[in-house]
Amino acid sequence: MVVDNIIKGSKEVLNLTKSILNDKENLKISYPNTNYNLPTIYGLLGKKIETVNDLKELINALNVDDDATLENALNAGVTTLLCAEAIESIKYAENEKPYSEPYTGFIGDEVLRDLGVPLVEGKIPAILVVIGKVGDKEKLKKFIDDIKKRNILALLVGDIIKEMDEANIPYGLDKLLVPVGEDITSAIHAANLAIRAPLIYGGIEPGKTEEIINYLTNRVPAVVVALGPLDDITLAAGAGCIKAGVPVITNNKVPVIEGALESSDIDNIVENALKMKNVDVKVSEYDNIPVSVGPMNEGERVRKPDMHVELAGPKSTGCEVVIVNEDVKEDSVEIIGKDIDEMEQGSTNPFAIVIEVSGKNLEEDICGVFERKIHEFLNYIEGVMHLNQRDQVWVRISKDAFEKGLRLKHIGEVLKKQFKEHFPIIENCRVKLITDKEEVKKYLEIAKKIYEKRDSRARDLSEEDVDTFYGCVMCQSFAPSHVCVITPDRTSLCGSISYFDARAASKMDPEGPIFEVPKGKCTDEKLGIYEGVNEVVKDRSGGTVEEFALHSALVKPCTSCGCFEAIVFYIPEVDGFGIVHRHFKGETPYGLPFSGVAGQCSGGKQVEGFVGIAIEYMRSPKFLQGDGGWNKVVWMPEEIKEKVKDAIPKELYDKIATEKDISNMEELTNFLKEREHPVIQSIQPETDEISRDSEKIEIVGEKEKTEKGLSSSEGGLDIGDVVLETIKDRGIQIIMKNVKIVINLNVGKKDDG
Ligand code: SF4
Repeated sequence: MVVDNIIKGSKEVLNLTKSILNDKENLKISYPNTNYNLPTIYGLLGKKIETVNDLKELINALNVDDDATLENALNAGVTTLLCAEAIESIKYAENEKPYSEPYTGFIGDEVLRDLGVPLVEGKIPAILVVIGKVGDKEKLKKFIDDIKKRNILALLVGDIIKEMDEANIPYGLDKLLVPVGEDITSAIHAANLAIRAPLIYGGIEPGKTEEIINYLTNRVPAVVVALGPLDDITLAAGAGCIKAGVPVITNNKVPVIEGALESSDIDNIVENALKMKNVDVKVSEYDNIPVSVGPMNEGERVRKPDMHVELAGPKSTGCEVVIVNEDVKEDSVEIIGKDIDEMEQGSTNPFAIVIEVSGKNLEEDICGVFERKIHEFLNYIEGVMHLNQRDQVWVRISKDAFEKGLRLKHIGEVLKKQFKEHFPIIENCRVKLITDKEEVKKYLEIAKKIYEKRDSRARDLSEEDVDTFYGCVMCQSFAPSHVCVITPDRTSLCGSISYFDARAASKMDPEGPIFEVPKGKCTDEKLGIYEGVNEVVKDRSGGTVEEFALHSALVKPCTSCGCFEAIVFYIPEVDGFGIVHRHFKGETPYGLPFSGVAGQCSGGKQVEGFVGIAIEYMRSPKFLQGDGGWNKVVWMPEEIKEKVKDAIPKELYDKIATEKDISNMEELTNFLKEREHPVIQSIQPETDEISRDSEKIEIVGEKEKTEKGLSSSEGGLDIGDVVLETIKDRGIQIIMKNVKIVINLNVGKKDDG
């Protein structure tokens, strides 16, 4: 029966799509903010659709087989997805902004990349694509609550969004409840999000359908939740998802295909959906806290008019600090000074958070890691906004939370419980929340001395001072051959794990994804090559990668997953590097946006000429030292240049171009010459002009290099001294895409004449 419905639904969509396309002419087809064209079509078929004619050609070639077999139904499902993609892409071709508030429609690459780290770390444990409606206000509230308290990303399609409006349930990307669209075809934007994971993080080439489906099945924790009465078209779309490796669960009666299509009552549907992808989420329960607590509250902001009181912040004083104190023998919460119900509404008050911990394996070094968690844990509390850290801490409590009964003792209880649950290494935990002015002052002085001691230790530590580095393979769930190596001079490329963080994490969970790497003998100090690192990298990458140079983008660079904060990319024309960060909206001198450059090296690949880095690595004294360090950096977005200004050697600052100075390669070259950037010495003086477009590269004005056995050829690229010298020095690999190259090599001895 369901098979018949799927086939019927698919035929209906196919006919509709053909008729929509029938009279369309001269339309350019693309989604905004993506490097992956129409991701479902591009991913599954490897076809880039650029015009409506390409789309017509594809859709007109599709058929739905009437024979009511499961295989035909699943194939019909895929046809439905392709048709949904076609219908949605036409919306974008005819209207620059086809979706208006609150709907998102297509979700760009940047959002997906931002979700990468929380997905990898398991902070967002799953993605649910929710289609349809619950039909009962109380059940809807419970359903959404079940999603929120597990911090699941929910992509909402159809009537459920209106239902949430009626029930006053807020939604939005900051709450991980994303209203995608009203029509069933908009569900393709959820599929488009999932299907980019194997392309971005898995490094799988578009069109490798089987590999993409395997990746979606085994590595992407996404499930479709189809609610309420299901029409034939929704069933057909669901069949397409099943075929693509995304299972479906519904509160309707359906023939069960274990792990692919299941039924559940609405009360347990979230938990049962997670089981289909073997996702286990631990939910912290709080009995005596009058507001909700969990990661779903993390994005909440408390604006001034909604604020009951403000604690510390720029208009007052305060600090937060974690201290090892072996005298702490039991868990407790102490409030020193006034509680928030004794403070004047709208007032600003001094505030210190002092957390004293004890445990036989605790060391002072770990305290910095614990301390950074205060921000996360406080923001879990509904109505509490925590900003900044250390002596810049700033907390606001909302009127709403205060009226619900929230007091400092509750905040202390949450901190105590979160610390104990997250860090089993802590045996006892005493939380002191201090609002007494003199006591705050006293602890501020203590805290400042602790910060200084910790910082100077971190600043002074370098690779030479330690025998052990740390590795992280958390991203292997998405990028199977990726290994991060974290040293005192090289923080993780996602920017979230420093050397001390990694050290603490490996101690707390020796079997976990972060582990010790005995560094072994250093075989190349400049490049940062260590025998111990290579052994571990080879083992942990399953033999895919044999050697890492920790401080080079050109020679055996570290692998890049997809979570990097920025990418270093080699620009052979000027023998220098560009650096582009994930939030840069413009184009690099090559005309490619961040996602275009990122696509060259993500997925756990080691690609010479590209390396993913953390912004913090740019402050390292060993930053790219194997390639010449800052002397080789020629371009970066202004935002990042400002951010790391203190790390850039003064004499180089004005010599590094940004998007404000240049917009293409020719301008870059001229800029570097004008400013006498150090790389300019390695640019061939006879090179008068370099022009580049997507079809060809020309180096004009080069003298013929016949004495070296190379001759120019019309319309092609001369591999002149510029490239030859670089290859000789560095052994680089040149990667060019969409470039027509004509090379004439006349190999002969110099004195052959
Ligand atoms: S340290 Fe590396 S492997 Fe670990 S989460 Fe960050 S990017 Fe992924």
